[in-house]
Formats: sequence, structure tokens, C-alpha cells
Amino acid sequence: MPKAADPSQVLREVFGYPAFRGPQAEIVEHVIGGGSALVLMPTGGGKSLCYQMPALCRPGTAVVVSPLIALMQDQVEALRQAGVRAAALHSALDPQEVAATWRTLASGGLDLLYVSPERLLAGDLLERLAEGEIALFAIDEAHCVSQWGHDFRPEYIQLGVLAERFPAVPRLALTATADPRTREEIRTRLKLAEGRVFLTSFDRPNIRYLLRDKDEPKTQLLRFLEDHRGEAGIVYARSRSRVDRLAADLRAAGFDAVAYHAGLESGVRSAALDRFRRESGVVVVATIAFGMGIDKPDVRFVAHVDLPKSLEAYYQETGRAGRDGLPALAWMVHGPGDVPQLRRFIDDSEAPAGQKQIEHGKLDALIAFTEAPGCRRQVLLAHFGEQLAEPCGNCDGCLEPRARSDVSVPAQKLLSAVWRTGQRFGAAHLVDVLLGADTERIRSLGHGQLSVYGIGGELDREQWRALIRQLTALGLLVPVPEGRGGLQWGPEEEVRAVLRGERTLELPLPPPRRERRRSGSRGGATGQGAAMAAEWGEADPQVVAALKAWRTDQARQQAVPPYVVFHDRTLLELASRRPGSLAELAEVGGIGAAKLERYGTALLAVLAGS
Ligand code: ADP
Ligand code: ZN
Repeated sequence: MPKAADPSQVLREVFGYPAFRGPQAEIVEHVIGGGSALVLMPTGGGKSLCYQMPALCRPGTAVVVSPLIALMQDQVEALRQAGVRAAALHSALDPQEVAATWRTLASGGLDLLYVSPERLLAGDLLERLAEGEIALFAIDEAHCVSQWGHDFRPEYIQLGVLAERFPAVPRLALTATADPRTREEIRTRLKLAEGRVFLTSFDRPNIRYLLRDKDEPKTQLLRFLEDHRGEAGIVYARSRSRVDRLAADLRAAGFDAVAYHAGLESGVRSAALDRFRRESGVVVVATIAFGMGIDKPDVRFVAHVDLPKSLEAYYQETGRAGRDGLPALAWMVHGPGDVPQLRRFIDDSEAPAGQKQIEHGKLDALIAFTEAPGCRRQVLLAHFGEQLAEPCGNCDGCLEPRARSDVSVPAQKLLSAVWRTGQRFGAAHLVDVLLGADTERIRSLGHGQLSVYGIGGELDREQWRALIRQLTALGLLVPVPEGRGGLQWGPEEEVRAVLRGERTLELPLPPPRRERRRSGSRGGATGQGAAMAAEWGEADPQVVAALKAWRTDQARQQAVPPYVVFHDRTLLELASRRPGSLAELAEVGGIGAAKLERYGTALLAVLAGS
């Protein structure tokens, strides 16, 4: 394709988009003009266009460094569908494919070349590239260069040489990691101190954050998933055994669920990943081993049945939902029971003491997030240094505000129970004592004889647990130093003030169990239909279904993921606008010239026939 001068024309004709989004226009212009930059944009923000557009507007081949083969393949497929001359060089290609790519490259026939960092730096690839014209270097997932960050890749460090060897070629580093320390490390290591920094808001307004008190995680999860049958999603759990068990439970409940963790054979893992990418309704149950490089746009929910290890991790994991901008859910059950184990992981790790302290601090920030009253998004963004002026209206804190009530008397009972049992037991046992449970442990410890035994009938188990969390958040209860989940009193003066009735505690508690059952999984619906209707008018579900069936067919024939053919967003827009001619089709977002030519007639037939 001849190099075009007008970016907005390229945007329309190649990608089928009417306008740039957020800072894209400014970034694209900066790079076309020869500038280097660091781009920080949340997942789904539209980073790819920031280098794909200059690649099409600047002379020469753009070199895109990407850490994962699957990621490269999808991008290359999607670009080819849009009529862009793109290829990838990586270890999974056979020699013929590699030779063909070399030839095309040498003849100046490539707009974009995707490579892994090790491939770029090995052999004579750089020399060969230098013989032709290089449009720019894009370094995707640039946080991999940071040792402070969580995806450190030693090969990335070498990428600093690009600045020295090709001082005249613009370099664009891109990441969705917001953390300021990582950001500085990227700039230093990739020698981008001179380049501009484009920092976008890290808010993901289409993601609804729903946190739930952990009660019976499996039952809660199944109830949550009930509203999301047929949707693609990720369920994060902490351990491999838990992942295996949950995946089996979900399958038994009729969900198309697959397990993913580092303990599985690599063939099994890649099959799971493949199904998740290529089909539209697969649920992956996974440890944190799953996720890096998942750019599937239509992940409708990310569920956590265990606490992640930090707020950064939570943000990144939940960020995999809703990259397409459509409504998505980040759902999590959490409880104090998760915390001791996480603390132990940190303490037992090999890390130096300073690092452990940092990790504990990160965990504290996460706990503060889970316990904060009010808007979740405000707390989350504040952690990344962003102030959200108004509550978001799209999280459990905003949608389900909890009434506060005077819990002074239950708090006194709880604090007494902690004292009488010797300041060393965790939440489960304390609640058993308060509720007068008949457990082996209570019998053997003789706790049935205590004055506090069975005095807590006014609250149910879940409410007691909530109260324990709140008193812990207030510092009235603190973990015992040796861990294991035990709790002891906080500062004695403060505790005594509560016990003597000098300090009143007004706190929000969950509604009693009976009511929770009745209200079911409120706030579960994503309101996808409603959001779409607001944008384009109603989409007929039958037409959407017909379009999806057609897309599945196309994807199968070409052996590509469905979203490479068209995103859900495009199908929904098609179904609500129902274009009747090629000219009208061209107006729909995501349909550029190449796709119009390739699929236009077929799409019109599907629309006419449904
Ligand atoms: P990121 O890499 O930042 O996570 P992507 O580059 O994958 O995000 O883009 C996210 C989604 O937004 C993709 O589906 C992409 O096609 C779409 N998108 C990006 N820019 C635009 C735009 N200007 N107009 C419409 N859709 C866009
Ligand atoms: Zn909110």
C-alpha cells in the first residue's frame, strides 16, 4: 500500500474508524513527525493504533517488539484482514515462512514487522533492517523492561541499544502499567528521557467493580456465573489445586470451563488458551500464570475467588475484561481469611527484607481497597495518583450503598470474645464461639464454658465476619505477630473506650442472610443491551445471533479467532443500524475498505435474511 499522508483518511479507510480516540491523534502526529515517546494507556485504550498508524504514514517498515507469539499472530492476522502488509518473525515459524518474510522485507514490501526481543537482537536482523528503511520501533508491553514491575524479561533490557544504533528512528514504548516507579525505569532503560510521555487516565469506565464478602466462594461464584452463561470470562484462584477443582465444578454445572496453571503440561495449557481465544463463550479458571498477552477483546467478566496480591495486580487482572469498551464486570469475593496466607507467602519467600516490606505494604493497600466504604473506583484510581471528582456510579460502593447502624454492642461482644479466648484465634473460631457452635475445637478447648459462648445471636455468620473485618480495618483488632490468622486487641485505650461504651461505632453491615438469598445476585447484569441502545438504538438479538454465527463460520474457515474477523462492537452496530447497501456498511465502525470488499456482500445477505 502506498504511504499515505493524511492519518485520518488512513484511519477511516484501513481501520474503518471515524475518529481517533483520546490522545491517539496527538501521539500519532508526534511519531509521524519523528518523535519518540512513552505511552501509558489502560488496557483497551487503543495503544496499537498509536504505532500502526505511523507505520502506514511513514516511509519504511515499522518494527514492533512484542513479548508473546500469540499476541503477534493475532495482530498480524487482524492487520492482514484490514489489508495491511504485516508479518511476524518468531520461533514458531517454519523455515519457508521465515524465508518468505525475509524476501518481502528486503523488497520493501512490509509495513509492519513483529518480532520478539530476542529475535530482534540475535543474528544479523538489525543489520538487515538497517539496509532498508525503518519507519519506527514500537516496544509493546514496555514494562517488561522493569525489574520492579511484575513481568520482567531480561531480553528487554538490551533494547536500550536501539537508541544508540538508530538515533534518527522514532521509538515508541507502550504499556498499561501505571505505577510511577515502573514508568521511570522504562524511560531510563529504553533511553527515552528525551521523548515525550503520554499519560492517559487509567480509568476503565466500562468495567463495573463488584466486591462481595466471601462466604461460600464456590456457591457465590456459581450464582454469579448463572447470569453470564455463554459469555467469555476469567476466574482467578490462588492455587493450582483450587483451579482444578473449580474448573471441574463449573463443568459439572454446565459451563464450558477450562483450567489453566503452570502445573499443567504445556500442550494442555496452549489448548486451553486457544479455545479461549477462538471461541466466544469459554471460561478459563486460572492462577495468575494466565493473562500476560491476553488481548481477547470480548472478555465479559473477570472473577476473583481469592484476593490478588496487590492492587496493581488486581487492576491488571481485572483490566483484561472489556477491552472492546462494552460493559464488563470485575467481580471478587474477599474476606479476612485470605490475608494470613498471603502474608505467609511474602514472609516465606526468598526476597530480601526490604522487598518483603514493600510486598506487605502493597497487600495493605489492597486490603484498604476491599474495606473502604464508598466508591471503589475512587480508591483504585487514587492509588495510581488519579483523583476522580465524583463517585463513579458503576461499582458496588455506588450501586449498593450500605446503611450504617450502631454496632457498639456486637463490637463489645466480639472484643470480649477475643480477650476471653486468649487473643490468638482467627475469625472462624471467634464466630463459632459467639454463635454457640458445637465444634470439636470448642469442645477440646472448653470454650463452651466461656461467658461469651453463644451470646452473638443478633448477627449471622456473615455479619460477624464483616464486623471483624471492619474492626480490623479500624485497628481495634490486629493480626497476632506470628501470623496464622489469629487476632488480638489493638491499642488497649481505644479498645477499652469501646468496651466502656464511651465510643459508639456506626458501621455498615451486610443485610441478614435471609434477605441476601432473596435478592439473589443483584447488580449482576451488565446492561450491555442498554448501553448499546443508548449509542445506536436497539439491536435485535436474532440479528446479532445470525451475525455471530456467520462470523464463527468465517473464523473457522480462516483458522483465526472470531474477533479478528469483526469485533462484537461492529456486529452490534450492524444489528442496530441494519445497513442496506455497501455505502451504508462502510459507515459502520470497524469496516474499512479491505473488509468491505471482502465481506460486504455476505454481510448484506446475512442482514437481509434475518
Ligand atoms: P490496547 O492495546 O491499548 O489494550 P487495542 O489497541 O487492542 O488496545 O485497542 C482496543 C480496542 O479499541 C480494539 O478493539 C481497537 O480496535 C479499538 N480501537 C482503538 N482505537 C480506536 C478508535 N480510534 N476508534 C474505534 N475503535 C478503536
Ligand atoms: Zn463507584
